[in-house]
Amino acid sequence: MWSLRFISAEALVSHPRVAQQSLDGVACNIYPLLFKASYLLEQAEVIRVLLEHWPLEDFRLGALLRPNADHPGDLRDRACRACLEACVRGLADHVRRGGAGRRLEVADLTGIRDVQVQRCPCGKALGRWGRTELLARTCCELQGEPRAARRPVEVLADIFVTGGNFEAVLRALGPPGSAPLRVRCLSFRADSLRPGQLLHVLRLAGPSELRRLEVVHNVRLHAGHVQELLAQVGFPRLVALTLPAKAFDAPPASSATSHGEAALLTSIARELSRMTQLTELSVAFSTLTGKIEKLLGPLRTPLRVLDLANCSLNHADMAFLADCPHAAHLEVLDLSGHCLVDLFPSTFFRLLGRAAPSLRALTLEECGIEDRHVGGLILALSACRRLRELRFLGNPLSARALRRLFASALCELPMLQCVEFPVPKDCYPEGSAYPQDELAMSKFDQQKYDVIAEELRAVLLRAGRADVRVSTPLFGSFDPDIQETSNELGAFLLQAFRTALENFSKALKQME
Ligand SMILES: [Zn+2]
Repeated sequence: MWSLRFISAEALVSHPRVAQQSLDGVACNIYPLLFKASYLLEQAEVIRVLLEHWPLEDFRLGALLRPNADHPGDLRDRACRACLEACVRGLADHVRRGGAGRRLEVADLTGIRDVQVQRCPCGKALGRWGRTELLARTCCELQGEPRAARRPVEVLADIFVTGGNFEAVLRALGPPGSAPLRVRCLSFRADSLRPGQLLHVLRLAGPSELRRLEVVHNVRLHAGHVQELLAQVGFPRLVALTLPAKAFDAPPASSATSHGEAALLTSIARELSRMTQLTELSVAFSTLTGKIEKLLGPLRTPLRVLDLANCSLNHADMAFLADCPHAAHLEVLDLSGHCLVDLFPSTFFRLLGRAAPSLRALTLEECGIEDRHVGGLILALSACRRLRELRFLGNPLSARALRRLFASALCELPMLQCVEFPVPKDCYPEGSAYPQDELAMSKFDQQKYDVIAEELRAVLLRAGRADVRVSTPLFGSFDPDIQETSNELGAFLLQAFRTALENFSKALKQME
């Protein structure tokens, strides 16, 4: 139900000119209502004027768009380009306006969720990267206007930096002083940057306040860089850390000495243990064979999120995980790319047993789970009563085994919402090898798959579990950040490929 207040606000903002003319007579506490109504109707002009005249001490985007007594709708998943641009432009107008009566001190632009389908009228999104660039360019424009700097506004933001917006972000964060908009980063994602650029921009981004740091894909870090990053930049309040593939590889120069490598790992672990709020660690695709105890042992906070996909774990690593204090707190766990049930059955099931009371999301892709393992898996999963998401693509399971797993375990999990299951083995040519490459994975009998998928849905339906979403996203789920920067990522990969080819041909010539 919408309140009468909200309906009136909607009526007013539907006429932008009237709304603008009436603002002088509007009480301060009506502004949040007018803002949500304008955002809902995508009245960008009104949004910009509201921000320009914002009469309160803070403007918090996420809080303004969430459900409230006047309007139960949640607009936080609308990253509407028109509305968000209007917010930032209005903010710039606000600091330009100056004036003694101006009260705005903090503009919190965080809290927007990037989703696949925009529900707003224009349907065009402004993702995290685009929002970063817009804010950075706006900050830079304002830096040349001393009048705007008399009463600066603090802007809280989630930042996404790549080579494409690096220069603008650098200038926006630039030396503190007379900047009218002072950006404070709460989360920071970096892709397609050189290690030196990453260190430079992070130092400016205010690492002492950073809560989440994601360094991904095309930032080529080795253990030396990671140690430098953690020891020299320092992130005392970090909650979540994601490092790119191979982040624990030894630096090229010291690769000969295993002592140097061990010292680096010890140093990295020491720095992590200084972060008293760290509860989420994602280090997928790093070779960590035999190193897990050294890395996670010293941590002082129990981890809630742990991504160790494709880390080449061994018996000692799994034994440590099963018995460590983190196990009983895990909510999100990814152990993809390890033959868990075949190689480490007892430690793997012990780990699942200890995590069962807290576990919400479990990912076991390409873990070599076969039909003969399903009995054990049913037993282990049945204890995970809080599980919401289960992903196990790329495992050689038959339709029969999947039906059994669905009927005996998945139907019984009361909180389960999302299952990503593999294309059944029966849909591939006989004797197909696992793990599959992309080409082999995509060559299956679609008709047969459709029939089996329908049967699996019917199993859920019969158990009264129509609420569980099941799918087989063969080439990964939607990732808004990759979607937004795919052109730049592609160009970066192409350049890397070309450099590799050039080096190869150079080496060939030298051999001749
Ligand atoms: Zn829109």
